[in-house]
Amino acid sequence: LLCFSSIQTKPAATIMASNSSNISSDKRFLIFFDFDETIVDETSDDLVVQAAPGQHLPGWLKDTYQPGRYNEYMQRVLTYLAEQGVTESDMRSIMEKIPATPGMITLFQFLRTRPPQDFEVVLLSDANTFFIESWLRRAGARPLFHRIFSNPATFNKDGRLVMRPFHSHDCARCPSNMCKQVVVRDYVARRTQERGRPYQRVFYVGDGANDFCPALSLGARDVAFPRRDFPMHRLITETHEAMPGEFKAVTVPWVSAEEVVQRLRKLVAE
Ligand SMILES: [Mg+2]
Ligand SMILES: [Zn+2]
Repeated sequence: LLCFSSIQTKPAATIMASNSSNISSDKRFLIFFDFDETIVDETSDDLVVQAAPGQHLPGWLKDTYQPGRYNEYMQRVLTYLAEQGVTESDMRSIMEKIPATPGMITLFQFLRTRPPQDFEVVLLSDANTFFIESWLRRAGARPLFHRIFSNPATFNKDGRLVMRPFHSHDCARCPSNMCKQVVVRDYVARRTQERGRPYQRVFYVGDGANDFCPALSLGARDVAFPRRDFPMHRLITETHEAMPGEFKAVTVPWVSAEEVVQRLRKLVAE
C-alpha cells in the first residue's frame, strides 16, 4: 500500500476542496467507487468492533439493531466504544490495517497516471467520513478522489466519534440515511449543468445491494463494475432475467480490479 504514496503528483489541497466548481470541467469520464468490500476487502463497521473490550459487542447492544435502521445502530456502537475508552487513534489504526481488494491499488495507479482530463473520481459510501479518510490517507490514495459522499463523522470534545445520517430521501429500496441513486443523479445533473456538457461515460464500481440502486440509473453507454458474486452482481443478474431492458448499463463483473483497468484501458482509447 505505502508505495502508492510515492507516485502522488498533485498536492492534496487542490483535490480536497469541497466545492465541485473547483473540479475542472474538461473531464471525459466520471467514476464512482463504493468503499467497504469494494476499495477495501472488509467492512469497516464490522472491523471497528476489534477495538471493543474482548473484540466483540455485548448482546444487549447487538439486540438494538432494527432492519432499515442500521445508521442509528452504528451511532450506538460508536457511543459504546467511546464509553469503553476506545480512542480516535485506536480506531484509526484498525482502519489503516484493512487490506485493499485485489487489484485495487493497480486501478488507483491507473487512474492517477491518466491525463488529467480523463477521470473525475467520486467515492460514495454508507460507512463514514472518518473511517474512509483514515484508510485513504494511509494508502496515499486521498488525492485521487475529487469528492467523498458519506455519513459525516467527527470527534466531539469528549473524544466520541459522532456520526450523522448523510441525507433523507424517499427511495423504498434503500436505508433511510442514504440512497446512492439520489446522490448519483443529483451529482451528475449538477456537474453536467456546471460543465455545460455531459460526460462521455459514467462508471460505477461496487459490491453491495445499495450499489445496485445507483447503477439502475446508468445509461446504455455507462458501465457497472460489480464485484463478482457479491449482492450488486446478483441483483443485476436477477433484474436481467426478471425485467429485460430495465438495467441498461454494460455490466463487467470483477474478481480483481485489474479487470476494471483492462476495460477502462479500452474505453479511454476510443
Ligand atoms: Mg460495499
Ligand atoms: Zn435507492
